Amino acid sequence: MTDQIKPQPGIMDIALYVGGKAKVDGVANVVKLSSNENPFGPSPAAQDAIKRAAHEVHRYPSTDHLELRTAIAQVHNLDVDRIICGVGSDEIIHFLCQAYVGQGDEVVYTEHGFSMYRISTLAAGGTPVEVPENQRMTDVDAILNGCTDRTKLVFIANPNNPTGTMIGLAEVERLAKGLPEGAILVLDGAYAEYVAGYDGGAGLVERRDNVVMTRTFSKIYGLGGMRVGWGYAPKPIIDVLNRIRGPFNLSNLALVAAEAAVRDRDYVERSRFENTRMRTWLAEALAEHGVPSDTSMGNFILARFNSPAEAHACDDFLQKEGLIVRRVDSYKLPNALRITIGDEASCRRAAHCIGQFKASRK
Ligand code: PMP
Repeated sequence: MTDQIKPQPGIMDIALYVGGKAKVDGVANVVKLSSNENPFGPSPAAQDAIKRAAHEVHRYPSTDHLELRTAIAQVHNLDVDRIICGVGSDEIIHFLCQAYVGQGDEVVYTEHGFSMYRISTLAAGGTPVEVPENQRMTDVDAILNGCTDRTKLVFIANPNNPTGTMIGLAEVERLAKGLPEGAILVLDGAYAEYVAGYDGGAGLVERRDNVVMTRTFSKIYGLGGMRVGWGYAPKPIIDVLNRIRGPFNLSNLALVAAEAAVRDRDYVERSRFENTRMRTWLAEALAEHGVPSDTSMGNFILARFNSPAEAHACDDFLQKEGLIVRRVDSYKLPNALRITIGDEASCRRAAHCIGQFKASRK
């Protein structure tokens, strides 16, 4: 009987997602540098908004998210009607796959690309195409070569997680222009706010009918726990995505928190400034210990070791010291560890421990 109950093809090919740990047994004073969270937490304005809205949670939330979309549109100078909000940008990625991908369709992204692209593709019944890329994630031709007339979506994160690297706008535009007829380029801007003056690709969305941008409140806004993301897309695509969006996908607390956070530009500026300062410092400190990293544009760096064994040994060593960082073997980068930029004390602790680790191996 139970043999007859089967999920759709592809579902069992999805590996269960294992989230970053928050503690290490027997170790006090643990610092989590594994999920690219803002070390300063959410802005006080967002916290106040959550408190103020607490008495209203017996009410269903807004279905059209107009207030949040208006705030996003005002702050970023965008068209409010081309914005859609979701439960994290994960949900926008999911909507895109549900709406545009079915059996036999292909979704292209690179082997060093974000894990959700594969999950959502398989959940929609599509075929993931993970193209080999150089580790700096700059080879647009590699992505174009991975496309066929069955390609429906192409995902790139810019800056990319976990490499921290960025593809220049001219190259992104060349990619969009080179896609097969009917395919959409999704520019994942989860880390866009960390790049001063960068619009995440919003301008490209306005110029072309085959480009979508996704953004999140989980990173610089410090609202990972509230689960809010948004997408910017041509109106016909927004219309499609809204048809499959659950009417109450975002809670009223999430909506008010995100609205207050996006309006608190000082907080964003200060977070970006501190991130750049400590990212530069940490990259230099690690290089002095013989651990290089590419220039990262995000709130993390990808520290490179001499071998997978050395990267794993360093991870074990850091855990014993109470520092949780991220192994990136599943991103085909087994000789690296991704380290989120924490506050100054955490960065100093990470550099010190990695220095001790490297010294112990001489
Ligand atoms: N895209 C990228 C590149 C990410 O790194 C993340 C978070 N790890 C996300 C999307 C999803 O973020 P969220 O669902 O929290 O908005």
